[in-house]
Amino acid sequence: MRIEEELKLDYSDVLFRPKRSTLQSRKDVNLKRTYRFKYSNNEWSGIPIIAANMDGVGELGIAEKLSEFQMITCLTKQHDIKKIKAFKKIKSIHPNIALSIGIKKDDFDNLDKILKEYSFIKFICIDVANGYSEHFSKFLKSVRDKYPTKTIIAGNVVTADMTQELILSGADIVKVGIGPGSVCTTRLQTGVGYPQLSAVIECADAAHGLGAHIIADGGCTCPGDVAKGFGGGADFVMLGGMLAGHDEGKGKLVKSNGSKYIEFYGSSSETANKKHYGGLSDYRSSEGRTVRVKYRGKITDTIKDILGGVRSSCTYVGAPSLKQLSKCTTFVRVTKQFNDTFVK
Ligand code: 5GP
Repeated sequence: MRIEEELKLDYSDVLFRPKRSTLQSRKDVNLKRTYRFKYSNNEWSGIPIIAANMDGVGELGIAEKLSEFQMITCLTKQHDIKKIKAFKKIKSIHPNIALSIGIKKDDFDNLDKILKEYSFIKFICIDVANGYSEHFSKFLKSVRDKYPTKTIIAGNVVTADMTQELILSGADIVKVGIGPGSVCTTRLQTGVGYPQLSAVIECADAAHGLGAHIIADGGCTCPGDVAKGFGGGADFVMLGGMLAGHDEGKGKLVKSNGSKYIEFYGSSSETANKKHYGGLSDYRSSEGRTVRVKYRGKITDTIKDILGGVRSSCTYVGAPSLKQLSKCTTFVRVTKQFNDTFVK
């Protein structure tokens, strides 16, 4: 047994140190980025925030709206050829769509079917809760061999060594985060995890050294956390809970004591397992929560709020664009993030 003594940090453990700036207004901040990906050689331009492939978030209705902001949506694994066919606007939003698969043969078959007909879709997200298995790397290699020109996202991992391994196995983008999610119970069920900001900093460094990219996936609770993800070196930030509760996600609406809520649940929760796989297998326990999120109306308002926050972070540290945010970032460690007198 070994203990690593070095302190690892979460988003709530730091704040940006403000810096003198020549920027006049937050409206001057450019949040758009352009990336060229290591293996696919595809170029993508947009605001690098991604809707997570979770029910109620990774949905086509959300994708339609996010695409207006040139933001990406990672569709849930349940988006089969029938669902894609039924959505007539796929061609117009395709640069900002990722198809998700697990490592089952059925997933691969579904992906093949979709890409045969919709070959213009450029992103594939191979998503498992634990990206550390050898089987996962092998599967990733097989997808890379079959689809050399697709931009492949693979995860999740939280350490530099495995980030490198996934990149060497064919990932253009590595998804980083084990246990930080709003409806994730992995840390409680297994005791496994890694504080998200440190994971992002360490994995970004490893990926950038190999000419690849990372997504900071999970753990953002407010626009400031999104900015901290970018400040820590993330190329993309993926959001689940922060984008839940909107009309476009088409989640189940629940009314209680005069308020409206939308049901939201983790992808490995009992609710998700019942819905998609007929229940939890005997050997597994649920690693996700089911919650009610306050109904929040249209997603456009939430997006504007998030982007406004990130723009403001950039002005505070003197970054004229999102590209410069990480270079302009000095984090200060804190023991209290904000004044919560009137919260709850
Ligand atoms: P959030 O933005 O809500 O904090 O985190 C979203 C991320 O949580 C997702 O992209 C995914 O990586 C992770 N996640 C979603 N559902 C589950 C779950 O049921 N269990 C675990 N361990 N993680 C989940």
